Amino acid sequence: SLTAWVNGRFLPLEEATVHIEDRGFQFADGVYEVIACFGGKFLELDAHLDRLEQSCEAINISLLKSRPELIELIHETYRRNPFDHAMIYIQATRGVAPRSHLLQQEIVPTLVITSRELPTPSANKLAMGASAITLPDIRWQRCDIKSIALLASVIGKQEAARKGVDEAFWLDNEGHILEGCATNCFAVIDGELVTHPLDHQVLGGITRHLTLKIARQHGITVTERPWKLDEPGLTECMMSSTTNAVIAVSHINDKTIGDGTAGPISSNLRQWMIDEFEAMKQ
Ligand code: PLP
Repeated sequence: SLTAWVNGRFLPLEEATVHIEDRGFQFADGVYEVIACFGGKFLELDAHLDRLEQSCEAINISLLKSRPELIELIHETYRRNPFDHAMIYIQATRGVAPRSHLLQQEIVPTLVITSRELPTPSANKLAMGASAITLPDIRWQRCDIKSIALLASVIGKQEAARKGVDEAFWLDNEGHILEGCATNCFAVIDGELVTHPLDHQVLGGITRHLTLKIARQHGITVTERPWKLDEPGLTECMMSSTTNAVIAVSHINDKTIGDGTAGPISSNLRQWMIDEFEAMKQ
């Protein structure tokens, strides 16, 4: 059975519980990270821990763990739940206190870490591309913080599932695609890789950063600007996340992107990224 790190100790997953007055439970007062692990190698571990630090700082939670301590805990959680493709989930909440919006005392943050098997997208999905709908962005104004307050994303994902598609992309008031419920979004427009710039409306995805870096390394021009689905010259769309790397999106709402399969730049970017992950395993 699976083992989780919860509040200072490892427990079987079924027994790993937190208090009902945990502020994560009552207020979604916390932040999280998801880290992929291939063959025992954690991908972009430092970048994820940097972002965890930034998220904690942004909402004023002090983790009380040094970077080496955190890394050791992540490794130990993985050692107890080793999968060839694993996803490490880390959640930090402000801690346990009688329910009141304003916290009046010093409390110890709650830290939870799990390691679960990470499923890979099917060969058919990779070849044909994923699908998405667009929805007006109903989220808060600090999407740059990786907050556990994910109600809008849950609603978006439910709506996507109801329509039989993989993801929902959030639109700003002018109809620009910001990002997905759990992904960053890209388009190929006139041969350039285009994605929304980093601001309060999108999460600074670790895989977004990696996608742009790999694109530049292969001579693809990268432009960070707001973009729309109906722009002339748009030939491909894709989305990126720790759990799925980068994957083509060939159907959005009623629109077929390109020829309705994974386009060449999306497929190349994915392959280059997977090659980089494989090289890290050696
Ligand atoms: N955008 C949102 C809103 C997300 O929730 C996520 C991941 O969960 C991403 C983007 C992708 O980020 P990353 O590549 O760091 O996993």
